Amino acid sequence: MPSPQERLFGTNGVRFQPGISHDLDFVIKLSEAIGTYFGDGDLLVGRDGRLSSNALSYATVSGLMSSGRNVGEAAGVVPTPAMQYAVKTQGFRGGVMITASHNPPEYNGLKVVGRDGVEIPRLDEQRIEKIFYDDAETRADWRAVGVAREEPSVVKNYIDGVLSKVNTKLIAKRNFSVVMDLGNGAQCVAAPYLVESMGCKLITLNSVLDGNFPGRGPEPTPETLADLSAVVKSIGADLGVAYDGDGDRAIFCDEQGSILWGDQSGCLLADYVLERAPGGVLVTPVSSTQAAEAIAKKRNARVFRTRVGSVDVSRTIIERNATFGFEENGGCIYPPHISVRDGAMTTALMLECLAARGMSFSRAVSYWIPRFHQTKAKVEVDPGKVDLVMKKVERDTRGRVEKVDGLKFWLDERSWVLIRPSGTEPIMRVFAEAETREKAESILKKFLKIVKAASA
Ligand code: MG
Repeated sequence: MPSPQERLFGTNGVRFQPGISHDLDFVIKLSEAIGTYFGDGDLLVGRDGRLSSNALSYATVSGLMSSGRNVGEAAGVVPTPAMQYAVKTQGFRGGVMITASHNPPEYNGLKVVGRDGVEIPRLDEQRIEKIFYDDAETRADWRAVGVAREEPSVVKNYIDGVLSKVNTKLIAKRNFSVVMDLGNGAQCVAAPYLVESMGCKLITLNSVLDGNFPGRGPEPTPETLADLSAVVKSIGADLGVAYDGDGDRAIFCDEQGSILWGDQSGCLLADYVLERAPGGVLVTPVSSTQAAEAIAKKRNARVFRTRVGSVDVSRTIIERNATFGFEENGGCIYPPHISVRDGAMTTALMLECLAARGMSFSRAVSYWIPRFHQTKAKVEVDPGKVDLVMKKVERDTRGRVEKVDGLKFWLDERSWVLIRPSGTEPIMRVFAEAETREKAESILKKFLKIVKAASA
């Protein structure tokens, strides 16, 4: 069990190493606290393909039933967004997803979602923690204990849901050839069937579900996607796409084999969606590209910047009734489907976008998206010194400053630097963006020096 008052929820749910940092007793007690927090209604539990997910799922279902809740268990492995979509559309009061997203295989975790399928607000996470630490979980007596049933159609409903949000005829006409790197992750059960049903020719890599993630690991990065890039080029495919371990993020590769980071694919989709919804609202964290503002201006839309983290983006999308949201790590949120990141929805929308634009992927990006260069790095900082470092940096830096999350200085019209303490590790992250790579790198170098000096 964790020591009293240790925060359980991090940036994205509760994460730990089963059997090492926490055991199954912890999961049962936490699930009792989650069931107590919800108080009524049926809850859905889903799991990704990690080796410990099956055991954690049983413990979670047990804890929820112990608190008196009836539980639907999504059959087999499901992508996180499929579980979230099922909560939203199948009448659940909320749910729990067993996943550690892109973390190494030995990790796992619980993500708690509300009635709308979106991660519960930060304050509600603290309510669950309070129930947990106060030992205030409801333990139902034998008459009131919950029952579990299997939910067989979560993946099918999810695929049908995505298909209903795009122009499948337009996509089918293009006969796209697509290379998909599933990374042995949860989209193995959904994305290939989705893409094939839209008339695309599909080649898959790492398509066997495996909690050891033997292919390229659960985190798609430009380095781990070298195979995807090579296969796209060698067979002359129209595009490549890769997902993280639980399938909520999608990273694309153009027909020339270049890996497009989330800023570029996110902007391409934002531009496409906003073109069809003039006067719309785009939501993205402070760390993503300023191309977002350029696109919004062109489409007569507004941009809202949030703290870093998909929960903040999702919640702001709901508050602002926004049109689209994206993160620089490949998370895209299309609210007509569900206000959470979704790798399969992002893929379908990208196919529609490319079909509508009628040009190659690389040409679409260079034609529609203003190009900025971003670079980032991290510096280890003693957690006790974080406030001091931030104060020193603020005192010594000139330029317009934004304080949505960390400190973001605009050094001139088109260059900025963001200095942000990590929420989960004793490090500071430094991001820099400018019109040329050289300039972005020189800004980054300068500020890494400043942060290191301030923390010495
Ligand atoms: Mg993920």
